[in-house]
Amino acid sequence: MPRQSQSLPLVAIVGRPNVGKSTLFNRLIGRRQSIVDSEAGLTRDRLYGQTDWRGRTFAVVDTAGLDRQARGELVENTQQGTAVALEEADAIIFVVDVRAGLTALDTEVGDMLRRRRRPMVLAANKAESQKDEGYLHELFELGLGEPTPISALHGTGVGDLLDQVIEVLPPADELLDDTTDADTLSVSILGRPNVGKSSLLNKILGDERSLVATIPGTTRDPVDTELDVDGRRVRLVDTAGIRRKGVTKGGVEHYSVLRGLRALERSDVALIVVDATEGILAQDQHIAGYAVEGGKGVVLVVNKWDLLPQEERDDKAWRRKVDNAFKFIPGVPVVYASALTGRRVTDVIPAAVRVAENRRRRIPTPELNRVVQKAMEDNPPPTRKGKQLKVLYATQGKERTPTIVLFVNDPDLAHFSYRRYLENQVREKYDFAGVPLRVLMRKRVEER
Ligand code: GDP
Ligand code: GDP
Repeated sequence: MPRQSQSLPLVAIVGRPNVGKSTLFNRLIGRRQSIVDSEAGLTRDRLYGQTDWRGRTFAVVDTAGLDRQARGELVENTQQGTAVALEEADAIIFVVDVRAGLTALDTEVGDMLRRRRRPMVLAANKAESQKDEGYLHELFELGLGEPTPISALHGTGVGDLLDQVIEVLPPADELLDDTTDADTLSVSILGRPNVGKSSLLNKILGDERSLVATIPGTTRDPVDTELDVDGRRVRLVDTAGIRRKGVTKGGVEHYSVLRGLRALERSDVALIVVDATEGILAQDQHIAGYAVEGGKGVVLVVNKWDLLPQEERDDKAWRRKVDNAFKFIPGVPVVYASALTGRRVTDVIPAAVRVAENRRRRIPTPELNRVVQKAMEDNPPPTRKGKQLKVLYATQGKERTPTIVLFVNDPDLAHFSYRRYLENQVREKYDFAGVPLRVLMRKRVEER
């Protein structure tokens, strides 16, 4: 049966530094810090996330910031970010600072947007008084239509802005992807620039005698490649994007981080490639974090193993590093590989297949209740304000990402650390390696 999976529309926020892009992003995504970020010890802002408005879900990204983050640079590049947005986004929010008026950089970005017409809305940020709105007329000079006054800081006007965003987004049925069926496992290859994604892909495909098909996309849609791995269909998502190297005129590497995140949305399992010679960087953690937040399975590929001096080729030491950096995905499978020499490359896809199987694991309710009960007897939850957490019933939800639902007397009594304890107890009994496992608490009134 064809699975009607849908790729999420992508909305990019562009504009020069300091106009309020990240303030707007935080307002759209919600400010709460993600558990992934805090566990990974990441303090930098998140730059990619999902939101919905009037029943439509879409991904939002601060393009310039995302690119900077992926490269580990400090200064964002507005033109480059805009070029990436023009290439990859379904709609653009162009933010200007109404109080500062138009600067040369605003005009330059405006020119880029005008030349390559894409669905866009113009946000006149920091419009908080009558006087601020008096400057609006200046923004008409951009030739990009009527600006919408907003205050990202206070939230005024943001609803109007989102109404316009929804209006310019492509209709939902244009984003339908009906070429995958439920038995196909979709795998994306992600990582910072130059870690070896494209080399790895070439090696995988080069060694693969089981190439089934290349599925052409439309001009905006990526090209995928299908493999048959021991009777199992595996689809490598956006192989064209990973391969398309070279730098375009604006200095943008074509396989931008953003394109990788789009591929991530369409996949079940992400191969996160890191460069062994550089160790695990914050940017790598960010990328893995996006995969985990998206509920995807993860396999870590520590690439360029051949470049490590002999004494550093130490699986155990690397395992410790990995466990420490990726606490939010305990026990993630790791392949220590070299796309150059081919070392362990043939292990990569089978590892993804195993993770996909883990992700489909369903625990029978009676068994799950026994595991949870035993865990609570072994290590009872601490009391809070004289009350103790009670779990009345446990079950696994129907979500595609494994989700344990606990019906409890009072969800507020469940500390994050206790939730993590229960998660780990379940992980000890069942193989969920490489899979985010969610533990949700729902209130259930006790019967007397
Ligand atoms: P970015 O560099 O474009 O991401 O800009 P930021 O979101 O970091 O904002 C730059 C500065 O402008 C910060 O000091 C924000 O607090 C401030 N700012 C952002 N939005 C607003 C707004 O709507 N009103 C006012 N008054 N200040 C804002
Ligand atoms: P991408 O930007 O992530 O797609 O990275 P590429 O596949 O283009 O690789 C970047 C550079 O690293 C190229 O010069 C590759 O030849 C080199 N490279 C990739 N994988 C390996 C590896 O396992 N070992 C060594 N020594 N070099 C590698």
